[in-house]
Amino acid sequence: MNRPVNLFVPPWAACLPTNGCENLTRPGDLAILASMYQRFEIPTAPAPPLHPVPNKFLPVVRRPGLAWMLLREAFHYRFQRDVLLSRPCIYGVFSGPVGGFLPRTQLCVGCMRCVQEYPDVCQVFVDERWKALGDSYFTPDSISTLNYEATTGKIMVKGVGYKGPFAGEGFDGLWTDMSEIVRPTRDGIYGREYISTAVELGRKPTHVDPRAETVAAEEPVLELQVPFLFDLLPDACRGNGAEAAAIAAAARVRSLCLLPWRGLACAPIRRAEEAVVVPVVAACEAVEAARFLAGKAFPAIEWTDAAPADLPRLRSALPGSVPLLRVPLGSGTSAEVRALAAAGAGAFHVTADYHGRTADGSFVKDALLKLHDSLVEAGLREQVTLVASGGIVRAEHVPKAILCGADLVALDTAVWVAQGAALRGEFTRAGRRALDFPPLPPAWGAQRIVNFCAAWRDQLLEILSAMGLREVRRLRGELGRAMSYEDLEKEAFGDLERSA
Ligand code: SF4
Repeated sequence: MNRPVNLFVPPWAACLPTNGCENLTRPGDLAILASMYQRFEIPTAPAPPLHPVPNKFLPVVRRPGLAWMLLREAFHYRFQRDVLLSRPCIYGVFSGPVGGFLPRTQLCVGCMRCVQEYPDVCQVFVDERWKALGDSYFTPDSISTLNYEATTGKIMVKGVGYKGPFAGEGFDGLWTDMSEIVRPTRDGIYGREYISTAVELGRKPTHVDPRAETVAAEEPVLELQVPFLFDLLPDACRGNGAEAAAIAAAARVRSLCLLPWRGLACAPIRRAEEAVVVPVVAACEAVEAARFLAGKAFPAIEWTDAAPADLPRLRSALPGSVPLLRVPLGSGTSAEVRALAAAGAGAFHVTADYHGRTADGSFVKDALLKLHDSLVEAGLREQVTLVASGGIVRAEHVPKAILCGADLVALDTAVWVAQGAALRGEFTRAGRRALDFPPLPPAWGAQRIVNFCAAWRDQLLEILSAMGLREVRRLRGELGRAMSYEDLEKEAFGDLERSA
C-alpha cells in the first residue's frame, strides 16, 4: 500500500512567506513566526538522589591540628573575624556550621588546595565506597557523572583538568574531531541558531509520488526529538515505579519507551501514554498479541525473532504503527538485516549486552561499523533506521554510536542507574540478577531521566556545533569527523619492527 506521508514539511511551513527573507524584517512578521516556531528544549529541575551516592573525594581533617591552628591564627591575626573565617575551599566543604570540624565531603572536587595550604591538617583520599560503585564497564566515574547530570540537568564541569588516559578500549578508542576551523554553528549552544537533534524511525521513502505531490511511503515514519529511546527493564526489576517513570520521561523528551506487551496487557496504561510506548512482542506471539493490540495507539511495535516471511503478518497486527525488529548483534547480523530490509523491513533495533559486547565478542562500535558498511554496499542504508543498544552509559557514547552508523540509540543501564539502581558485580545481561533497584516515586524517577537526557543532549549539541553540523542526522556514519586510535597507532608505528 502506498500511503502518502508528509515527512519533512512541518505544519507551520505553509504559512511562511515565500518571496524572500526580506519580508521577515517587519516586526509583525517576526511576531507571527515566533508564535508558529517553537524551539525544542528539555526543561530541567533539581532532583537530588533519594539515597546519597558516595563522592569520589573524601577530605579528612585532623581536628586537634585544626583547633591548634585556629588558636594560633586567632592571636596572630588579633581576632580579625574576616581573616579567621576565611576558608581555603571555594567549593564550600569547610563552610558548614562548624567549618572544618565537620566537612561537607559531598562537595569536594579534589582540587587539593587545602592539602597544599595546610598539609598538617588536611588530607584528601579516594573514598572506598565510591570505588565499589558500578562494574568494570559502568565505572565509578561514569556513575558519579551520571548522578550529577540526573540531579542537576547540567553538564559536569570540574575545573580541575582531565586526569585520565586519552585512549582506551571500546568507545574510548574513537576520538571525535572538533576542529576549530569548522565552527559555523557554534551559536547553536547558546540559542542564537538551532541545531536539530531530531531523528526519524521507520522505513524512509525513496521517491516522490507525482500524483500526491509528496513523498510516498509504505509505512509511517516517526519523528523523535532526541536520538535516544528507553530500552526494556529486566523482568526481575519490574513493578518498582521505574516503568511509569520511563513513560513520563519519554513523553517529556518526546521519545519512546519499550515495554513488554504482556506487562501492558496485565496493567493497562492510559490512552495518552500509549503514544510514547512501544510494546515488545515475539513474532511467534503475533496472533495472541493481536487481540491486545487492536485499536491501540502505540506508535511502533518491536518484534523479536522475526523472519522475512513474517513481515506482512507483523505489519497487519497494528496498521499505522512502525514495525521495529529487534536483532542481536553477532557474526550473522549483517546478512540477517540485509535479508529483512530487502523484504521490506525498515527499522531495526540491534542489540549488544550491557557492556557493549556482541554475540561474537566484538564491541558494539565495530559491529555497527560493519553493519552500516554492509547496508551501504547493498544500497539500503538510506531507507532503513538502525537503533543501537548496549554499552551506552556516557553522553559521548551517543554521538560515537551514531558516528559508527546508528541513527539513534536505546538507553538501558544509564536510565536505571540514574533512578538509583545499583550494580552488584558484573552486570552484562538482564538474566543476571545483579541489579539492585529499589522502589521509587515515578515523578522523581521521570525528573531524573529528563535531567540527564537534557545534559546528554547539550553535550551532543556541543559536539555537533564543534563539528559544524546543523543536525544529528548528518552525523550518522560520518567517520570523516572521527579518528580511530587503533588506526592512528597503526599509521604511526605499524611499520616499526619489534626488537628481539
Ligand atoms: S580538595 Fe579542594 S575541594 Fe576538596 S576540600 Fe580541599 S580545597 Fe575543598
